[in-house]
Amino acid sequence: MRIDVVTIFPEYLEPLNVSLVGKARARGRLDVRIHDLREWTHDKHNTVDDTPYGGGPGMVMKPEPWGEALDAVIESGAQGAELPVLVVPTPSGRPFTQELAVELSEKPWLVFTPARYEGIDRRVIEEYGDRLDVREVSIGDYVLAGGEAPVLVMIEAVARLLPGVLGNAESHRDDSFAPGAMADLLEGPVYTKPPEWRGRGIPDVLLSGHHGKIARWRRDEAFRRTVRNRPDLVERTDPAAFDKKDREI
Ligand code: SAM
Repeated sequence: MRIDVVTIFPEYLEPLNVSLVGKARARGRLDVRIHDLREWTHDKHNTVDDTPYGGGPGMVMKPEPWGEALDAVIESGAQGAELPVLVVPTPSGRPFTQELAVELSEKPWLVFTPARYEGIDRRVIEEYGDRLDVREVSIGDYVLAGGEAPVLVMIEAVARLLPGVLGNAESHRDDSFAPGAMADLLEGPVYTKPPEWRGRGIPDVLLSGHHGKIARWRRDEAFRRTVRNRPDLVERTDPAAFDKKDREI
């Protein structure tokens, strides 16, 4: 997969050199290219923002540098048949979910446009919306100073789903929100050695070696935790997906 990020803070994206994403890049699973938006400015101050039409506080990112930058990035991949999906982080976008992470992980090429100030001139989104699959995406109901942290979040969520990126391909199968039998359930508690720590043991069933009982216990705990922490997820689950035992929890 290829990922391009256009930003006025390229150094903010340095964590993409470490850990899982850094390894995926080193192994050639992920081709990440970071671009400085200011390279596409033409005045001596490298201006990327201006006052908003209609007045009001804050500044708005100018369309010209974004247009030139995105044209150049798209052009650089023109030899490939596929156009990129343009991912625009914004608190006014659709929520970023595991489902969307899975969908994006199946695309060959993503371009992210993290903004600053009050966001990007609307015409940029309209312009590329005519040519590309554009997704305006929010990582949560709060407002950050810029889109770089949301881009780090989204790239990590997508990258760990790519084939060959996680050491054990099964690791994300039982994750919270993972599609399948546990869909829409949060993952339950997990334990490792030693068997006793500060007087606290681990549930006996996990030492039983009985795979069926362990799976049942994990589902019960996942269901219990979901009811407690995210009742909204339980409410939107089809009751047909409930086990008889779930109804007792
Ligand atoms: N005035 C905008 C609003 O209220 O929707 C907020 C702009 S915010 C200060 C600047 C930039 O940070 C946004 O354009 C976006 O790129 C990013 N950003 C902030 N919060 C975000 C969130 N929850 N999800 C995704 N991106 C976010």
